Amino acid sequence: MLSQEQIERIVADVVRQMQPQMENAPAPDTCFFEDMDACIDAAVRTQKAFVRVGMEKRRVIVEAMRKAAVENAESLAKAAFEETKYGSVAHKTAKCLLAAQKTPGVEDLETRAITGDEGLTLIFPAPFGVIGSITPSTNPVATVINNGIGMVAAGNTVVFAPHPAAKKCSAMAIEVLNKAAVAAGAPGPLLYAVKEPSVAASQRLMAHPAVRLLAVTGGEAIVSMAMKSGKKVIGAGPGNPPVIVDETANIERAAKDIVDGASFENNIPCIAEKETFVVKSVGNALVEGMVRSGAQLIDSAQAQKLLETVLIKKDSGYVINRAFVGRDAGYLLKSAGIPVQGEPKLVVTVTTKDHPFVTTEMLMPVMPVVFVEDVNEAIDCAVEAEHGNHHSAHMHSTNVENLSRASQALDTTIFVKNGPSYAGIGFGGEGFTTFTIATPTGEGLTSARTFTRTRRCTLRGALDML
Ligand code: NAD
Repeated sequence: MLSQEQIERIVADVVRQMQPQMENAPAPDTCFFEDMDACIDAAVRTQKAFVRVGMEKRRVIVEAMRKAAVENAESLAKAAFEETKYGSVAHKTAKCLLAAQKTPGVEDLETRAITGDEGLTLIFPAPFGVIGSITPSTNPVATVINNGIGMVAAGNTVVFAPHPAAKKCSAMAIEVLNKAAVAAGAPGPLLYAVKEPSVAASQRLMAHPAVRLLAVTGGEAIVSMAMKSGKKVIGAGPGNPPVIVDETANIERAAKDIVDGASFENNIPCIAEKETFVVKSVGNALVEGMVRSGAQLIDSAQAQKLLETVLIKKDSGYVINRAFVGRDAGYLLKSAGIPVQGEPKLVVTVTTKDHPFVTTEMLMPVMPVVFVEDVNEAIDCAVEAEHGNHHSAHMHSTNVENLSRASQALDTTIFVKNGPSYAGIGFGGEGFTTFTIATPTGEGLTSARTFTRTRRCTLRGALDML
């Protein structure tokens, strides 16, 4: 009878002997597997072949993935909406197009050269190998497009662990991108997933030794869990972005921007405005402007009815009722028995800074507005409401000093001045797009270079430019 230790040693030896054969084995022709280990093995094999195709071919493959994502943006958006019921097809289509067109590709990778009397040193970005990418239900397909393009541009293959509630649309996005990549010359599928995503499969992904990097996009619990895995983690966690409006702002424009940003995708984006602090001298004008821009104002009694409908009371405070995440404002009001006026984009209520609508990451089109004495109080309240996530915050002001003070105090990864929140990810604002905003681990707005490891190659005594 063999001991457990002997069995483990024999298995390790057999695996080691098989390694060269695995490396030379042809890339798999499927990207969906029953078992997470088989999925990761396939991703390892393809990645080894993929790095050998060269940079120019890699560029062509990424461009083909972009094109396929553009062509399929609407059908992917429809699939995501039908499966999750979050947000809207139009907004999801816009996000897919944005990810396809503005996610940096191979051009994002930069090599540095240092020359001097001693010779030449190159510092260059290399792939990690296989990346495990855990993706959220709130943004399933655009995250697959965005991470897929960025991670592949960096020379990796990816094993996705989509949220089980968005498994079909995520699989569809993976298939669309793989098909285009293979047609453009990829040695096999570059993106993988298990057929039935589950918590157990995600946990195996986080534990598997061949997965060298985890990119985790989701709530606090999953990001914290990944950070305990012992691997390098790019953690894209939750936010609760406040928006500040001071008395110097263009109030009508601020009102419109807040309604547009907070109602986009029914408020499920992590960057979206989730509570407003306005200096009281312009408070009423702001709320009236929000109503003119498509919001419905409700009073405090109605706000209480809404709270009892969309939030669930726990000992530790309130949690969101998932049945109302990303649903239309009219649906929320109707469900709470509040008369609906027309087709509101957003529900607005004037309240206090400790109201659960302010302190909870609601992920639904409900905007609490808190009147404050002055900009200093607004900044203090905003810092508190952001909960130290260092994620996103926004401000409307024409006073440069106020803008700078708020930006420094909030210290968020994204700070949008005088625009809707989505301007911060390149939608109607300058800069590239990402849907993986790494807040707790500090990489910030991720792009292809984030998914590389730095290597250094030194040639001594030659090519020194003399
Ligand atoms: P979620 O935390 O419920 O799920 C995220 C992912 O983690 C899913 O794939 C899910 O299957 C997985 N997961 C959750 N618990 C797990 C467990 N115990 N074991 C293994 N896997 C587990 O989040 P969600 O509701 O789908 O997405 C919304 C959240 O994501 C919000 O908090 C939002 O702010 C955040 N988010 C952040 C960013 C960012 O870039 N920072 C982007 C989008 C969403």
